[in-house]
Amino acid sequence: MRKELAITVLQTLETNGFEAYFVGGCVRDWLLGRPVHDIDICTNAHPGDVIRLFPDHVPTGIKHGTVSVKKDGYLFEVTTYRTEGKYEDYRRPSDVQFVNELRLDLERRDFTMNAMAMDLQNELEDPFNGRGDLSERLVRAVGVPAERFQEDALRLLRAVRFAAQLGFAIEPKTLAAMKVTAPYLSHIAVERVREELNKTLDSQAPQTGCRLLIETKLFAYSPLLERLFEQAGAQAWRLVQLGSLSQKWSMLFYAADFDEEATRQVCAQLRMSKRETEAISTFVGILERINPEWDAPHELEWGPILLEVGWDTCRELAQIIQACWWTKHDEQFFESLQMEYEKMPVKSVKELAVTGLDLQVALQKKPGEWIWRVLNSLLSQTALHGLPNTQEALIEVAKKEVARDEH
Ligand code: ATP
Ligand code: MG
Repeated sequence: MRKELAITVLQTLETNGFEAYFVGGCVRDWLLGRPVHDIDICTNAHPGDVIRLFPDHVPTGIKHGTVSVKKDGYLFEVTTYRTEGKYEDYRRPSDVQFVNELRLDLERRDFTMNAMAMDLQNELEDPFNGRGDLSERLVRAVGVPAERFQEDALRLLRAVRFAAQLGFAIEPKTLAAMKVTAPYLSHIAVERVREELNKTLDSQAPQTGCRLLIETKLFAYSPLLERLFEQAGAQAWRLVQLGSLSQKWSMLFYAADFDEEATRQVCAQLRMSKRETEAISTFVGILERINPEWDAPHELEWGPILLEVGWDTCRELAQIIQACWWTKHDEQFFESLQMEYEKMPVKSVKELAVTGLDLQVALQKKPGEWIWRVLNSLLSQTALHGLPNTQEALIEVAKKEVARDEH
């Protein structure tokens, strides 16, 4: 469906006398029979021509030759053939020049498998034998590898990410150049680094990615990241069993023996969102506390954890534990865990028959930190140990606890 729409974009360009091709990732993924998530088009038409031919467009990056053409709600990036000027900051070229030849445009691309174009007749333009590398399952730099990584050091991580996503090896000369140019990675914006790492962890062969990160010493500039991948690498194959990125990061941190503090440091270093950082460090904090490698998941005492973090977080946590230490998904275990949660007569201090104010009045005490402590203790006793949730019973227990504490 989407390809049909993209075809009409190529047809419009061609009937107006321009060349137009599908290019890059979509061609690679079509040849591999993988799902395609965005279709990019290249053309010798200049941005001004593209805008004229497609009134319904978004001027995504005119300076770099890119116009996004809208068709039925889908966007297709149409980019003018271009070469790139000198690279100055290990990432962006200082300028781009529009050119008239497809081959020059393909030459600026990172890997042979990403440097192919396909026309409306499904004819492939493949000057660097990307198809051959696809069939040999190799990530190979276009041109002189060391120069290409030095121009744009993000390519170092892209190589790792593609190897992990596709289960490919890195061609020996390309790999050797990565080892030499690895230090340039420190110049890359941390958000880009994080995005590539996320894609690597989310791939079908994260262990390949971790192995390459270690082998090429890509993170030699960051002791924490280097240690993370070195210490967790051997467990990374388990990541595919997990659904969310927060779970994957948590598993990695825990497998690498990171405590909550070190985990937060890495999250901050990678500028993860507050939400993501909280999710990950909560997981790691609890894992660290319960040390699940000593017991099978069903042998752990889940009650207090269920109370502390609620069912959703607990389920995700149980999945991490299961992925780490069990080989098979055990649905029964998850059902019994959920049952245990649902069975609890109260699930939060808000549901208790007394409030903090009630306690103050009944115990004739000034407000203070004790209220929170006593409420939580009452919660755990009512939820897990059969204490009736009545004002009378709760206040009696509260009095005893406070008296004991004051002794
Ligand atoms: P994905 O499946 O992740 O989208 P992709 O190959 O489409 O993979 P994009 O980042 O969408 O990757 O880039 C589209 C194309 O642009 C690539 O296939 C490649 O030809 C080129 N490209 C992207 N980033 C770079 C880069 N850093 N250096 C050189 N060429 C690049
Ligand atoms: Mg893409």
